[in-house]
Amino acid sequence: MHGRAFCAAAQPAISLHPGTAPMNVMTAPPRLPSASGLSRPSRAEAEEAVRTLLRWTGDDPGREGLVDTPARVVRAYEEFFAGYEVDPVALLERTFEETDGYDEIVLLRDIRLESHCEHHMVPIIGRAHVAYLPHRRVVGISKLARVAEAYAKRLQIQEKLTAQIANTIQSVLQPKGVAVIIEAAHQCMTTRGVHKAGVTMVTSRMLGTFRTDPAARQELLTMIGRNG
Ligand SMILES: [Zn+2]
Repeated sequence: MHGRAFCAAAQPAISLHPGTAPMNVMTAPPRLPSASGLSRPSRAEAEEAVRTLLRWTGDDPGREGLVDTPARVVRAYEEFFAGYEVDPVALLERTFEETDGYDEIVLLRDIRLESHCEHHMVPIIGRAHVAYLPHRRVVGISKLARVAEAYAKRLQIQEKLTAQIANTIQSVLQPKGVAVIIEAAHQCMTTRGVHKAGVTMVTSRMLGTFRTDPAARQELLTMIGRNG
């Protein structure tokens, strides 16, 4: 499970950008005032940029069907990239210690995942499985999904997304182990480039017991249904 399916579209670009390798989530930049230190453009400037792209496609931004498109696109971007406004660490800070000693796998399976590839800004659609082995405390199960969403709603590569979710849970919750598996289709690969429809990319990040203990890892994969 440490291996991953081949993504022909993404791999060359990744090798050109070693800085996009899995990073410690604690260094993930907040958006405000801005992730890069650059000032954010105004909404009007963002809409004008969309008008420029519309002209670039060869269409007329002034025609009836497109006149409101820049405003719609900018509003859609607010949804697509809402994760920059969310602090994933804060999502995990409330924990529960009355677990009666529960120390088996906690798995949230088949979390719908919607992200955007940072190379082409087109959707990455898939699902995530997030698991951890509690150490004295647990977290509300929905928070695992919200952490995944907070990182997914940013410009991403799947490898980094996988690592960020796992690293955050590990560093904040400090469980005995964390496992994150993501299976996703990249529209930059299915609708352009090599046009390989139906191909999904699988990434996994195993920490702690899931990394060191093959039996724990096997139990997890069985629970997920990927032990074949
Ligand atoms: Zn891409």
